[in-house]
Amino acid sequence: MIEPSRSGRAAYRDVSLYATEPMRCDIDLSDNTNLWGAPPSAQEALRDVANGAFTRYPSAYALDLKAALASYAGVDRSRIVTGCGSDDVLASAIRALAEPGESLAFSAPTFTMIPVFAQINGVVPVSVPMTPSWDIDPDALVATGARIIYVCSPNNPTGTCVSREAFERLVAIAPGMVILDQAYAEFADEPLNELGAAGDRVLVVRTMSKAFGLAGLRIGYALGEPAVVAEVEKSRGPYKVSVVAERAGVAVLANDRAWVAARVTEARISRDRLAESLRKLGLSPLPSQANFVLVPVRNAADVSRRMRGHGVSVRVFEGLPTIGDALRITAGPAPMMERAIDALERALECA
Ligand code: PMP
Repeated sequence: MIEPSRSGRAAYRDVSLYATEPMRCDIDLSDNTNLWGAPPSAQEALRDVANGAFTRYPSAYALDLKAALASYAGVDRSRIVTGCGSDDVLASAIRALAEPGESLAFSAPTFTMIPVFAQINGVVPVSVPMTPSWDIDPDALVATGARIIYVCSPNNPTGTCVSREAFERLVAIAPGMVILDQAYAEFADEPLNELGAAGDRVLVVRTMSKAFGLAGLRIGYALGEPAVVAEVEKSRGPYKVSVVAERAGVAVLANDRAWVAARVTEARISRDRLAESLRKLGLSPLPSQANFVLVPVRNAADVSRRMRGHGVSVRVFEGLPTIGDALRITAGPAPMMERAIDALERALECA
């Protein structure tokens, strides 16, 4: 045991490192990435990076990437901040927008890293249950007195969307900032906020890890009021987007929007077929607007272990509020989905 004086911040003691399922599997459906592969212009950009390009630092605040994102979103670049994945943007935003000791409220269940990002920044996470129709309860969120309210739509892990009515009420009555995490917006019929339409009380956070197929390059961004964005950028610090990530991100935004849109269409079709196959197994998947499906199953950890035995990895959730145990399965190309359903069916047979 390390002496308390040398063991760092007390708030960190019960924070565990992020643990994902081991990925020694033929088919990994555990992380909601783009399973159709990498966008062609990113592959080309990475092949063309000369050695000289990465012996020097990137631009401190990723100016080329900001310009590309500004043109994609149709906003001025002063409304954009980038980061090393949207994880970095979310953590920086929480640090910038609340004082230590203040709180952040969220609807549970949601992205598991949110309470951790709050805690490591000295901010107190406060959980509020989702409504029975998988919506947020704006009044209950505001009643927590939190300085920041985090909303995820489509939500991870449920895949469900927040209603426009509830979100608009939340923004109208929230005393502080609302962070709207739209990591999966590209897969939704109607994303809550059109890209670039964030009002002055909302910071919209997005990523190139999911629809854009660049999770390993770590590119996230947020859109909001220039004054808010500037604070988040201070908190984020310089050099968070690498030279190679910036090159690839810019290339994809310039050349591969049609490729991304086509993969999104495939993912949406695959998701709906996956949900249908799950229903045929007698299960009740939640209505997903993302590129994954959450399906409640009893003893999810055992079921996933048996699925792994058949070469398929999915994400396990145990004891989720109002849902209980569940598996989250990423939508991918048809042969992967057939393997997944077959593995699940066999795993359930032994249950
Ligand atoms: N927000 C949500 C809702 C997510 O599910 C994830 C990834 N699992 C992230 C943010 C972070 O993604 P990244 O850091 O790759 O942008």
